[in-house]
Amino acid sequence: MKIPLLKDHHTHPSFYATLSTCLDLHSVKNKQEALSLINKNQGELVVIRGWNSSYYKFQDEELDNLPPVLICDISLHNFLLNKPARKILSPSYKNIIDKMDDKSWTEKNLNKIFKFIASIRPCSDHTIKSFFDDLLLKHGIWYAEDMLLADNEVINCFQRTGYLQRTKVWADIETIDHLNMEERQVVHGIKLFLDGAIGANTAAIKGGFLSGDKGILIYSDKQLFTTLTTLSKFDKPVAIHAIGDLATDQAVRILTDIYNLTGHIPQIRIEHCQFISQQNAKKAKALGIILSMQPNFSSDSLQYSDRLSKEYCKYNNPFRMLIDKAGFVPGKNLIFGSDGMPHGVQFALEQSLFPAFPGQVLSVEEFINGYCMPDRTNGYIQIEINEAKRTVSTKVVANS
Ligand SMILES: [Zn+2]
Repeated sequence: MKIPLLKDHHTHPSFYATLSTCLDLHSVKNKQEALSLINKNQGELVVIRGWNSSYYKFQDEELDNLPPVLICDISLHNFLLNKPARKILSPSYKNIIDKMDDKSWTEKNLNKIFKFIASIRPCSDHTIKSFFDDLLLKHGIWYAEDMLLADNEVINCFQRTGYLQRTKVWADIETIDHLNMEERQVVHGIKLFLDGAIGANTAAIKGGFLSGDKGILIYSDKQLFTTLTTLSKFDKPVAIHAIGDLATDQAVRILTDIYNLTGHIPQIRIEHCQFISQQNAKKAKALGIILSMQPNFSSDSLQYSDRLSKEYCKYNNPFRMLIDKAGFVPGKNLIFGSDGMPHGVQFALEQSLFPAFPGQVLSVEEFINGYCMPDRTNGYIQIEINEAKRTVSTKVVANS
């Protein structure tokens, strides 16, 4: 069967382009192997991505014996800096370095951390180009939205390389405030974070994590109400990161309040929305909210069974409830992306057709409607589905 190339509605091309030159630990499941790989990467500062804390955790002493190292975990919500790295970076980035151990600060200032990493490893025309080449040829992705702009230099990069045609840029309030009028016009919408991530034990889930962590809600109700109301001056869509049920509940509750008071809300997307009650899903749909979700995150139910209760594993990514009970329609008010964890058609399609729990299943048609380009102008993906083995094999054919 042939399907169109992917339109990834949620990822971070500029940030991943920056990280593409860094050591990637995502497939390294053993700590000794990770330590020896890091040790081999001698340099002024080693930046690492893809560390998965469900495989292993680092002791302070182990880290401090390594060369200067900054480690980003796979969820991009958890960061480690060893003492040698702190020494190098402190003169220029003291404000950030001093606070990076504070989880709650990190969640509230994620964009500052992205900017900090982007400034020590800036993206270039070359990294952007080869990243988009990779997205297309390895992963079958033609279009990839950039959910968190680091600064105006990224816009310049996209403009010079011509990739603005293949992306849509979102920025947080602080970043947008620093752009000139011309640059602001390039920004499609505004990104807000209501909670953290499962990978960092900071998603705001009612039942808490098995570790006892409660997750983090970034705004009080009052703060969120004020923030969302003042955002109307930009007259742009708003993408709200909300993973845990406390966060999706807060988003729907406050948007309902604003609607009841003013008769209007901005165009809203809830990003991730991994845990949402049926009642809130129905309210969200009635408010015209779009859910921007990641079929690949259905695998969190297995990957993070070390930290999520059985109940939460089961109710992660409740696509059947959203479509069959709350009435969301893929491609219309339910759209799909990867968040780059990982990118690409193969894993996403396999997780859609053969996820851990029946409530997470998507049909091929639903996948195409929510996740693909409207036609095959730029190429297509050949897919083969093996029902018996519950696997999918894919081959990308890009038009030159
Ligand atoms: Zn993201």
